Amino acid sequence: MKNAKTWDLDRLVRPNIQALTPYSSARSEFTGGAEVFLDANENPFETGLNRYPDPLQRAIKERLAALKGVSPEQIFLGNGSDEAIDLLVRIFCEPREDHILILPPTYGMYRVAADIAAVDIREVSLTPDYQPAVSAILDAANAHSKLLFVCSPNNPTGNLVDPNRLRDLLTAFPGIVVVDEAYIDFADAATCLPWLAEFPNLVVLQTFSKAWGLAGIRLGMAFASPEIIALFNKVKPPYNINQLTQEAALTALTAPERMLEMRDQLLSEKERLATRLATLSIVRRVHPSAANFLLVQVDDPNGLYRFLVGRGIIVRNRANVHLCDGSLRITVGRPDENELLWTALLEWPGVMQQAN
Ligand SMILES: *Cc1c(COP(=O)(O)O)cnc(C)c1O
Repeated sequence: MKNAKTWDLDRLVRPNIQALTPYSSARSEFTGGAEVFLDANENPFETGLNRYPDPLQRAIKERLAALKGVSPEQIFLGNGSDEAIDLLVRIFCEPREDHILILPPTYGMYRVAADIAAVDIREVSLTPDYQPAVSAILDAANAHSKLLFVCSPNNPTGNLVDPNRLRDLLTAFPGIVVVDEAYIDFADAATCLPWLAEFPNLVVLQTFSKAWGLAGIRLGMAFASPEIIALFNKVKPPYNINQLTQEAALTALTAPERMLEMRDQLLSEKERLATRLATLSIVRRVHPSAANFLLVQVDDPNGLYRFLVGRGIIVRNRANVHLCDGSLRITVGRPDENELLWTALLEWPGVMQQAN
C-alpha cells in the first residue's frame, strides 16, 4: 500500500491545471430529464444526431464499470488512448521543467505527446529480455519525473511486464505510473486494474482499437483514482466522444462474447503462424508474444520487407529499432490473410523450410 501521507497528488499537477476553471457546457450544467431543451443552440429537428452527446458518456461507463470491476468515477474515455496520453502529459508536466520516463523499445506516442508539449523525455532501455530495469529507472527519476510509461504487453516486443517489477515501480516511483494495456485482452495474464485499490499513482490504459475490433471509432479508456479521473474531466474537450462512437461502443459492450470469439480465433492463428515461421531458414527468432502480433527476427529484414510490399502485404519494419535488430512486426490477420503471407514467404528467394 502506498503511504497516503507521502502520496500527494496535488504536488504532481501543474499549477495552471489546479487553478483552471473548466468550460461548462450546457449538457453538463443541466443533467436532469426534461421535455424541451433550449439551452445548447442545437437544431431541434430530428436528424438522429442533432443533439450534443453526453459529455461524460455515462451509459458506456456504467457498462464498462460492471465489466471491469471498477466504479464509473474511475473511468475516463478518450478519443483513442492517444487522447488520454496527451492529456496526462498536459495535466502533469510543466513544459521545459518536468519530464516523462519511457522504456524503449516501446510505443511511439508517449514520445510524440511529450515532444508536442515541449516536455523532456528520459529514456531507460528495457533489459535485453525486454523487462523494465527497475533500479536504473529509479536512479533516473527525481521530483520532476511526473509520468512513467510502461507498456504491457509491450509494443513492439509483445511480452508482458513482470508484475513484481511493476509493483516495485508503483511503490517507489515518485510520479504517476501509466500502464498501457492496449493488448491485455490477448494476454493470458491478469490486468493490473485490481491494483487501483492499492496504488493511488496508477493509471491503466486500455482501448477499443485492438481486441474489440473498433479502431475506427477512436475510443480509449483510462482507469485511475476518482481524483485523477476528475483531472482528466477538467481538461478534456467537453464533447470529446461523439454520438456515433458512443452508440457503437454501447452496441459492442452489449455483446462482449463477440470480442472473445475474435480474440480466440486470433490467438489460435497466432500460434499457427508462429509455429510455421519458426520452420523457415531465414527466421532467426520468433519472440514469444502475449499480444496479436509477432516480432520476428529474420535475415535481410529490409529486403524481405520490400519483397512483401511488392506482394501487397504490409508488415511493420522494426529492423532499426533499439533491441529489435533485424526484426519485422507482423500483425496476426484473418486466416486467409495469414495464408497469403505464408505463401509469399515460401516464395522469397533462398528460403528453405526445415523440419520443426
Ligand atoms: C494500438 C495501441 C494503442 C491504442 O491507441 P488508440 O489511440 O486507443 O487507438 C495504445 N497503446 C499501444 C501500446 C498501442 O499499441
